[in-house]
Amino acid sequence: HTGIDLKGVTLRYTAKGQVVEAVRDVNMDITPGEFVAIVGPSGCGKSTLLKLISGLMPAATGTATVGGQAPRPSGQVGLAFQNPSLLLWRTVLQNVLLPLEVSPKHKAAYRRDPAPYMERAKRMLGAVGLGDFMHKHPWELSGGMQQRANLVRALIHQPEILLLDEPFGALDAFTREELWLALQALWMGAKPTVILVTHDLREAVLLADTVYVMTPRPGRIDVQRHIDLPRP
Ligand code: ADP
Ligand code: ADP
Repeated sequence: HTGIDLKGVTLRYTAKGQVVEAVRDVNMDITPGEFVAIVGPSGCGKSTLLKLISGLMPAATGTATVGGQAPRPSGQVGLAFQNPSLLLWRTVLQNVLLPLEVSPKHKAAYRRDPAPYMERAKRMLGAVGLGDFMHKHPWELSGGMQQRANLVRALIHQPEILLLDEPFGALDAFTREELWLALQALWMGAKPTVILVTHDLREAVLLADTVYVMTPRPGRIDVQRHIDLPRP
């Protein structure tokens, strides 16, 4: 399991000669296997922080480490965003197997013998209530079901870190609560370190061990709150 450590991190974009400071002086110390939520208003830099951690953007100032090393794009991170980007011409099962076809760690083993991976995929799809839908195509599924498949796909290669950017944003309240349970069921399996970005404080409190609150742009983390509520 992999921890994440940010010290005095500032993140900037340069667009059309203008420098935009998106994140200012953020400190976070996330222990391996911790489930963290980051809440804050739109535009405060939550997604930008995930870009740093997934190795897609350098820190302008400060230091960032993931598993003791500088962040870099790698197979140890699983990603899921608000819009499930499932391939329409593939079945649900074929979609969730996709990361295994490109993962440096798994692709050779997967090509040699896909059976154990198929078993894992089927088990995880079963765990989120998609057992009867694995051979359907994404366009035959509801939005909530697609989002569940999206979560399974983010976890299929057993990443050490799972980054979730508003994964339940576009869903109705009922579907959203169902998905919270699905996410917990998946997370309990391998317990990756999770960072969930959301603007739903209730969601954050219910799911996460630790909730970080960001200020409006440039986002700073002012309050760090450890909440000891039982998980639902
Ligand atoms: P959040 O995820 O909290 O809504 P973002 O991380 O998407 O916030 O954005 C933080 C700030 O950075 C915003 O002011 C946004 O306009 C700006 N920003 C985001 N992406 C870019 C980009 N590619 N180029 C320039 N500015 C950007
Ligand atoms: P291994 O191949 O290392 O023996 P398994 O695939 O048998 O591991 O998985 C062990 C348990 O963990 C199973 O109950 C499975 O449902 C669960 N699991 C497997 N992969 C994941 C994952 N990526 N995320 C969450 N749970 C998982």
